Parts: sequence; structure tokens; C-alpha cells
Amino acid sequence: MAKKQFKAESKRLMELMIHSIYTHREIFLRELISNASDAIDKLAYLALTDDSVQLKRGQMKVTLTPDRAARTLTVSDNGIGMTQEELERNLGTIAKSGSLQFKQEMDRKQAADIIGQFGVGFYSAFMVADQVTVLTRRQGEPDAWRWQSEGADGYTIAPAQRDEVGTDVILHLKEDTEEESYSQYLDTGRLQELVKKYSDYIRHPIRMVVEQRRMKEKPADAGEDYQPEWESVAEEQTINSMVPLWQRPRSKVKQEEYDRFYQDKFLDWQAPLATITTSSEGTVTFKALLFVPAATPFDFYTREYEKGLQLYSSGVLIMDKCADLLPDCFRFVKGVVDSPDFSLNISREMLQHTRQLQIIAAALEKKIKNELLKLLQDNRERYEKFWDAFGLQLKYGVVEQYGAKKELLRDLLLFHTSKGDKLITLKEYVQRMAEGQPFLYYVSAQSVEQAARLPQVERIADQGYEILYLTQEVDEFVVQALSEVEGKQLKSVADPDALPETDGEKAAQEEQEAQAKPVLDFVKETLGDKIHAARLSRILKSAPVCMSADGPMSLEMEKYFSKLENGGGMKAQRVLELNAQSAPYAALKAALDSGDRDKASKYVQILYHQALLLAGLPIDDPAAYTELVCGLMV
Ligand code: ADP
Repeated sequence: MAKKQFKAESKRLMELMIHSIYTHREIFLRELISNASDAIDKLAYLALTDDSVQLKRGQMKVTLTPDRAARTLTVSDNGIGMTQEELERNLGTIAKSGSLQFKQEMDRKQAADIIGQFGVGFYSAFMVADQVTVLTRRQGEPDAWRWQSEGADGYTIAPAQRDEVGTDVILHLKEDTEEESYSQYLDTGRLQELVKKYSDYIRHPIRMVVEQRRMKEKPADAGEDYQPEWESVAEEQTINSMVPLWQRPRSKVKQEEYDRFYQDKFLDWQAPLATITTSSEGTVTFKALLFVPAATPFDFYTREYEKGLQLYSSGVLIMDKCADLLPDCFRFVKGVVDSPDFSLNISREMLQHTRQLQIIAAALEKKIKNELLKLLQDNRERYEKFWDAFGLQLKYGVVEQYGAKKELLRDLLLFHTSKGDKLITLKEYVQRMAEGQPFLYYVSAQSVEQAARLPQVERIADQGYEILYLTQEVDEFVVQALSEVEGKQLKSVADPDALPETDGEKAAQEEQEAQAKPVLDFVKETLGDKIHAARLSRILKSAPVCMSADGPMSLEMEKYFSKLENGGGMKAQRVLELNAQSAPYAALKAALDSGDRDKASKYVQILYHQALLLAGLPIDDPAAYTELVCGLMV
């Protein structure tokens, strides 16, 4: 029989498939099953208009038959089949634009890792088979045809026998090599796994004979000491679930079903904290089923963690982790999106730029936010559990992308405060603000306990004003990004303007400062470059001293940067603030007034170090400082 040549394009594609070093060869099964399922759809469609077509309702199926002895895997369907001419046209040329586009991409990149992103179609069979046979009989035709090919050098077509309408694609699997096992595609367990992974939601049943161990029936005359016996039974089973959970209305699905689905699919031993379903019809049609995990995945804050949702197109998985569907701030969300608007053939690069994807991503972002807000309102305890697991991510979200997501996230943030130990939102803070309170106040500290005892806090707290306690490194960046809430500015309690002053107060302050100038000059002179300035404090009430910072960089930020590998050089402009009303200040002034500069400079050192300690900043020379303090005792 004469060999026919493939069209040039097809030949090249075939060569690529045969010599592919691609690791996802397994997707050939997805492609063949999709073709088989399409063929069934086509027959069903034909039956709508053609009375002569007898569709065997309930019997339409795709069948997988591994045969170890013959080393073949057959994918069969009772769909529409192909005529001789269709065989030529469909399997002798690249039938569809997707395959063509794939080939062009391959030529361009010479990279083999892009196959899985395309619907590469029928030719992918040659990634695992050294011979492919297609036995097919078209609906309405008496004759069947056998198409056969061993690769790029061509194919043959000959008349054949097939009792029923439909198609068998018979793959003779390649010999195993050291790198690659092709025998795995003869293993029913492996095939089941692959169907679950890629084709679980194909609309038609995928059937396979599966060996099962089961307990023999207990004989009627079995005695007391009867031991149960096991037997192997081969049974044809449906190995896909067909109807995806997300296609079913939420009211018809039990929460346990959602939980099980989540746990199986995303390998979590805990049930999800929240289940979110949403769908849309219109410019873009999609259904989404999303989950918020109950705990932080162990690798969540590492580079290894990959965000993304599974993207399906009419029940066929086209991308396992589609990152573009989720904003970074919600990267903890897991789930699936199914949209018939994506074709199987779309490449990753193209997908990124499709408008559909962007529309879906925007809708999901809004939906996730609203669901979290609802949780916050309806079930505070659960929300706090969520906050515990992913609150830090939301805070990062506020800061990242130049604050682009701050509006989205603001109402989801929780903070500790000076009033009670319940976490509150910024909205709640504003709602219970005191009469005439000019700002929202915050203070940074290592812990809530420390925050409460910082000297800077006293003055504001005495006014009856609530103070947000910032205890995580990112917090200061968060308040800086937010800058205001409902028209009210966020202000550090260490800000000299934290409490607005009257003109009289201002004048008094200026006069005090003028009087204190010799003392302040002496302090600055003694400490030199260690501080940017010495100042009379307007933020201290009873404590004698504290450290604050001028300019945009706070002390907390300095601490944060000092931990980064290459951010160590960033320093805040330190300001030593002295309380002119305090006894230690009076002692310092008295020493200076009496001309005892040695004593005065020791006092300055002590005050400076007290301020460092309070601020949680390291002391440059602990030994020298200890000596100094102990020296005062003798
Ligand atoms: P695609 O399925 O994306 O069009 P393929 O290369 O996989 O591209 O298949 C080419 C064509 O061959 C299909 O469009 C279809 O017409 C035909 N075909 C493939 N498999 C079958 C099948 N099992 N039954 C009927 N027709 C088929």
C-alpha cells in the first residue's frame, strides 16, 4: 500500500512531537479524550436535525483499553466517526489553528516546554507511540477505514471493518527508556490518575475495566471461625466524575462535599475556612469555586509557594495554576475557574493578554473581598482565625504595588489598640473616636504590652484617645500607605503635631526652647553624629526622655531595613527628646549651671542610652555604658 505524505506543516509538527523531550507527555491522553468527547457531541448535534441518526442515549461513552500483551492503549468513542476523506483532511494536515500556532511557537522558541499549554491535539499521540492506528466509521456510512502512521514519513489509509459507528485510536507505545516509562500508560491505576487530573469533568463517561479486590460473600454454612476471603473482579467503571462541583447550584451541594473536594484537590488535611462560589454570564461567562484555607500553608511566605487558580474550559483543565486570575494580596485563595470562553489552544502568553481573563480576575477580586467582609461581619471569631493565618499577607498587599490595593484591603485590616484586647477595624476605630479627636493615633512597639508602656503614649491616652498598636514590621509601611481613613489622618503618637496646640501653648513652648538652648546645644555637642538633633519634647508627659525621628523614615523602618541584607545602610534621623518638666532634666541643667561638664556629659550619655533602650534600639557599646552607670553608684 502506497504511503501518503503529510502536508509539510504537519510533518514538522509530528517531528517535534516524536523528538520531544517534553516532560508532560502525559497530556496526550487529555487530547485524545477531548477529541473523542467532541466526536460524541457532534453525533448528538447531528441527531437533533437528522431523524435517521439513532442516538443511544445513556450509552454514549469514551472507553480506555490498555493491553499489556499487545503493548497498546486504545481510546475509543461511539461518536460521529470519520469518512475516508475526513481522515485525509483531519489527520493528514494540521486541522486547526491551535496546532498551527503551536508549531509556529515551537519554531520560534525551539523550546520544548510549551506543549502542555496548547491544545496540541491528535499529533501528541506520537509523543508516546511509535505507531498510531485510527479505526473509524462515520455515521451514515457502511464502510470503515484504517489510518495508520509510524511517524513523520507518512501514513496509509485502507478499508477496514468496524461494527458500529465511532472511532478507535490505537497507540502502540514506545519502548521504555532510562528517562521515560511508556509502560505507565498500560497501568489502569496510572490512567485513572491521569483522567482525574486532566479529564475528570468531561461531559461523557470515560469507562475502563478496572480490577478490584473485594470480599467474597460469606457462605451460608460458614462456621464460627470463618475467615473472609478476597477475590479480584474485573469490572467496567466510569472513572471521571463528569459533572463538576462548580457547575452545580450551591443550594444543591452540601458543605461536606465542598470540603471533601477542596481537601482532595488541594491536598489539605483541614476543611477550608471559607467557600466562595460565583458565576457570571454576559461579556464573559464563567463559574468559579474558591476556597480560603484554614491555616497558612507551610511554604506560604517562601518563594516556593505559587499562587493561582485552576483554569478549565468546559470541563477540561487548561492551566493548573493561572496566576493572573488572583491579585497578590489574595494569593492564599485556592480554587477553580471554568469558562467556555477560552479555547483549549490558548498559549500562556496569549492568555495573559486576553480581556476575558482580566474581566474574570477583576470580578473575583471583588467577590473575594466581599466574602471576607461578610465573614468579618457575620462571624468575627472565624474571621480572626483567617486574620491569624493571612492577615500579614493583606498588610503586604496594602504596601505592595505602590498602594494600588489599599482601598480594596483597608476595611479588612485588624489592629490591636490601647482600649481592650479585642482586635478592631479602622472603621470601628473611627466610629468610636472621641469628640474632637483630630487624628487616628498609632504607636509602634515589639509587642502590645510594650506599646502600652511607651512614654510617648501617655499624653495621647490621657486625652481619652484610642491608639493603634503596631507590632509587626510591615505595620508602619501600612499606615504610611493608608495615610488616612474616612478623611482622618493617621498620626504617630511620636509626632510633635499629634496634639494640635493653641497659639498660647506654642509661644510658651518657644520660650522654653529658647531657655533650654544651652542644655540642648550641650547634648548635641556631647553626642555628636549619634543624633540628628536634641529637642525639648512636646510628646512626653512624665517620662524624662525618648527617641524619635525626623523625616519620612521612622525608627521602626530603620529596624526593618537593618534586617535586610542590603538595606542596612538606611538610617532614620534620630532626635533625642528631653522632658523639661522632669527631674533628670533638672539634674542635667543643674550640673551644667554649676560648670560640672564632666558630670553633665555622663548624664547626657545616660539619657541617650535610656532613649535607645525604650525604643528597642541596640546600644553601641554595652560595656562602656554599664561601666558608666555602675560608676555612679560608688
Ligand atoms: P482538534 O481536535 O483541536 O480540531 P486534532 O488534531 O486533535 O485537532 O484533530 C483534528 C480533527 O480530527 C478534529 O477536528 C476532528 O475533526 C478529527 N478527529 C480527531 N479525533 C476524532 C475522533 N475520535 N472522532 C472523530 N473525529 C476526530
